Amino acid sequence: MFNIIKIRASSLGELFDCPARWEAKHLLKMPRKTNVAAFLGTSVHAGTAKYDQSVLDNNKLSPMEAAGAIVDILKNPEEDIDWGDDTPKSIEKKAIPIHLRYCSNIAPKMEYVAVELTCQPLIFTDLRLELTGSTDRVYKDKLGNLGIADIKTGKTAVSSANVVATGKHAAQMGVYELLAEHSFNQQIDAPAQIIGLNTSNDKAAIGTLSGARELLLGDEFNKGLLHRASELIHSGNFYGNPSSMLCSEKYCPRHSVCKFKK
Ligand code: SF4
Repeated sequence: MFNIIKIRASSLGELFDCPARWEAKHLLKMPRKTNVAAFLGTSVHAGTAKYDQSVLDNNKLSPMEAAGAIVDILKNPEEDIDWGDDTPKSIEKKAIPIHLRYCSNIAPKMEYVAVELTCQPLIFTDLRLELTGSTDRVYKDKLGNLGIADIKTGKTAVSSANVVATGKHAAQMGVYELLAEHSFNQQIDAPAQIIGLNTSNDKAAIGTLSGARELLLGDEFNKGLLHRASELIHSGNFYGNPSSMLCSEKYCPRHSVCKFKK
């Protein structure tokens, strides 16, 4: 049967990390709550997007005005959150300083042409995959070339040496480049930028990543990651990876019934 499977750009890394977890979340839709660290990231995304969109619209808000978007999303989350020992108020206290750090250290260095761009799906008939997703930002560099910029929050988003680990995001950035090019109808050829915002200290930095699209699509000698993703998904062999850093009840909806876990 000729079935096309949808794959979100942001889930591609998870497919290769633990195919069984990817299947549980994205095909079987097993119920799960969003962990609070991920929701902290979502709230920071909301605030920074509000700020950047206001700049793009020539109607610039102050960083604190834009932080209203953080308060709003924490009051009315669209997801079921596993709050643990945290509360919306305690997350607000963490999110707003990260947002302010972005507005003062990162935003002034960037020229965006799109904020939270919802992309048109892109179908690869030969691979029986449909790519979907929205990119955090499309930026313009000094030469006028367009590139993808993606905000990553987390305890280790930026190292103690102020370096952003970019490699693990290559597949996702490659998909964003294809999707944005398809939606924007313009070439995306500047390197992808990963904007790292640490949630456990005051570090913020930008890392650069080239060749994401090549890694995704491959070349005449090597299969790209999309090809491997297609083979994996359409084989139906969703094996587990008990060594995954996210192999726990907290992050995996399959954990209680998984035959692969340790
Ligand atoms: S419990 Fe571990 S091995 Fe099983 S699906 Fe979840 S992450 Fe993968």
